[in-house]
Amino acid sequence: MAHILIVEDEADLRDMLSESLEQAGYDTLTAGTIGEARRKLEHSSPDLLLLDWMLPDASGLQWLRQIRRVKKFLDLPVIMLTARGEVSDRVSGLDGGADDYLVKPFSLKELQARIRSQLRKHNGGGPQERIEIGGITLEIDTHRAMAGSGELRLGPTEFRLLKHFMAHPDRVFSRSQLLDGVWGHQVFIEERTVDVHIRRLRKALEPSGKAGLVQTVRGAGYRFSTRDN
Ligand code: CA
Repeated sequence: MAHILIVEDEADLRDMLSESLEQAGYDTLTAGTIGEARRKLEHSSPDLLLLDWMLPDASGLQWLRQIRRVKKFLDLPVIMLTARGEVSDRVSGLDGGADDYLVKPFSLKELQARIRSQLRKHNGGGPQERIEIGGITLEIDTHRAMAGSGELRLGPTEFRLLKHFMAHPDRVFSRSQLLDGVWGHQVFIEERTVDVHIRRLRKALEPSGKAGLVQTVRGAGYRFSTRDN
C-alpha cells in the first residue's frame, strides 16, 4: 500500500482526492499549506507527492525545488496539480523537478493512472520494496512482516507503525510525531492511543524475541533500534 501526501489548499478538492485515493487502496496524508506539507513530509515517508501549484503561503513549485535539494527526496515521485494550462508552465513544472503534471479540472481516472505509472516507474517494476533490520523483514506491498522464519501477526496500524520505525532506525519520535507520521489525516486521535499501539506492536513481536527493538526513550518518546536501550 503506497502512501500519498496530498498538498492542496482547496478543502473540497483535497477531501475528494483523499477519499477517492483511500478507496483505491492508498494511504493518504493531507496538507493545505506548504508549512503543513513540510512538517508532514519530514515526519512521514510518502511514496508519492501530489502537489498543488498555488498555495496560500508559498508556491508549490518553489517548495519542490527546495525538497529536490535534499538527497532522500531526489527520487520521490511528484505530480503537480495546477489550474494554469499554458505550455510555459508545463515546461517550468517539469524543469522544477516534477515527474508529471495535471491541469485542473482533471478526471480521477486520469489521476489514478498517472499515480500508478509513477509508482511503477519509481519501484522500477522490480522486486517489491522490503525493509530488513534486526532480523525483521517487512514486505511493503503485501503488508507481510517476518521475523526469522515466522510471520508476525500485525494489525494494519501496527504494521504502519513498525514500517515508520524501520524506515527511520534509531530515530526518537515523540507521540505527536508518531501521530503525524503514522495516523496523519486523523487529527483527533489522543496521544495515549500511540501507547496502546506500541503495546500491541511489542506483544506481536514478543514470540520472536524482538519486542526489545521497540524502545521507550524516557521523556522523549519511542524509537526502533537494534542497540540496547
Ligand atoms: Ca491552489
